[in-house]
Amino acid sequence: MIAGQRFDVIVIGAGVVGSSIAMGLAERSLRTLAVDVDLSGRLSSSEKNAGGVRATWWQRVNIVLCRASIEYYQRFRDELGFRQKGYLWLYDAATYASAIEHIPLQRELGQPIEALTPAEVNRRVPEIDKLDGIAGATFSPSDGLINPNLLKEHYRARALKLGAQFLDRAYVVGIENGSSGVRLDCWQSDEPLSDAGLERMMTQDGAGVAENGRMLELNADSIVIASGAWSPTAMKLLAIRNWTEPVRRQICLVDNRVTNLSQYGMIVDTSGVYFHNEGSHILAGYSPPEEPPGYHFNYDGEPFFLNEIWPRLYARMSCMERLRHVTGWAGLYEVSPDRSAIIGRATNRVYEAHSFSGRGVMQSYGAGQALADLIAHGKYGALDASELSRDRFDRGAQVWEELHI
Ligand SMILES: Cc1cc2nc3c(=O)[nH]c(=O)nc-3n(C[C@H](O)[C@H](O)[C@H](O)COP(=O)(O)OP(=O)(O)OC[C@H]3O[C@@H](n4cnc5c(N)ncnc54)[C@H](O)[C@@H]3O)c2cc1C
Repeated sequence: MIAGQRFDVIVIGAGVVGSSIAMGLAERSLRTLAVDVDLSGRLSSSEKNAGGVRATWWQRVNIVLCRASIEYYQRFRDELGFRQKGYLWLYDAATYASAIEHIPLQRELGQPIEALTPAEVNRRVPEIDKLDGIAGATFSPSDGLINPNLLKEHYRARALKLGAQFLDRAYVVGIENGSSGVRLDCWQSDEPLSDAGLERMMTQDGAGVAENGRMLELNADSIVIASGAWSPTAMKLLAIRNWTEPVRRQICLVDNRVTNLSQYGMIVDTSGVYFHNEGSHILAGYSPPEEPPGYHFNYDGEPFFLNEIWPRLYARMSCMERLRHVTGWAGLYEVSPDRSAIIGRATNRVYEAHSFSGRGVMQSYGAGQALADLIAHGKYGALDASELSRDRFDRGAQVWEELHI
């Protein structure tokens, strides 16, 4: 019976980040429980992302966490569906100089990366035949694409093997942080939640409305907020300042019978559209800068493809002329003010890892290991994420991350 147990740590949220943290805690012999309202993750960002993994960031801590993750993903390459086919990033004149400026730091931290001229881009990817507006590019061969579901299941399987537990259909509606421990009040559903019921709960600003279920009390020495785009709810329950905004991002799958991009990894165009081969289709995403914050999951459908994706792809590649929209979806980015994650100790007995701002899959291993060390030993170990603690916003020590896909 989970209800009567006292845990060392309870992790709220078991997406790719919470599952990685649970694994890290179990590896350090801490009695761990991860609680999620929907372990299948139907609305979670871990379910809705593009699977990109790269370490071509501009901030040292972000590169370090991604490099650690990449090295881990390499070890389990086949199990995780990790395809290290690189990231090809095309820059316009306004951004290329900054990209080049950060190459020495990336190399210093072990990230292989080369700069390419527009002609070299065309030689490497002949399908990119319209070179207008490309000032230069970078290619980072150890980056690539991963299957986020396999990654999440890998973390969970290892965590379970080491004694961690996972509790499904339990929604945290109250947090009481006392002097001797933390009490969580959860509403637990008797049956799997309907899609409509889950969406109703997860699109409200605060604890959602229950279908059929019961209240459940859980107790631990410490808790971790790993509830992704819903971390604002936990902050509200704890009366801690929230820094995070959920923002909708859309992706579409398109059919292109003419082109096969399977030999390439992720390609990011100067226009901001990003794409890669996905089975027999192409997965493409674009993030309109004017997207308002909020818990919105509606996918704009074919108009999104026709207005945002297709014109940008065809402007770059003639072979993209005859694309057909197949399907698409929307998920949430969890965006912090400086576009870097918030990781560390939030307050006494409360830890956090969220607001990855589009980087949660690629940083999940590094973040999980770093935080698990902090919780188990009271200080960071081999991976130091102290720059990402929430007090950076009060100290004016933001970790601004410029590249944002
Ligand atoms: C379109 C799109 C493309 C992206 N592309 C990439 C990419 O290429 N590479 C990359 O690294 N990242 C990408 N991301 C970002 C990445 O998906 C996220 O950063 C990452 O999945 C966050 O993982 P998480 O575990 O923190 O959150 P989530 O996966 O959202 O998990 C949070 C969990 O918490 C649960 N939860 C929330 N509140 C409660 C509560 N009160 N009680 C119980 N459970 C609760 C939810 O059910 C959910 O399962 C993308 C995101 C989107 C939307």
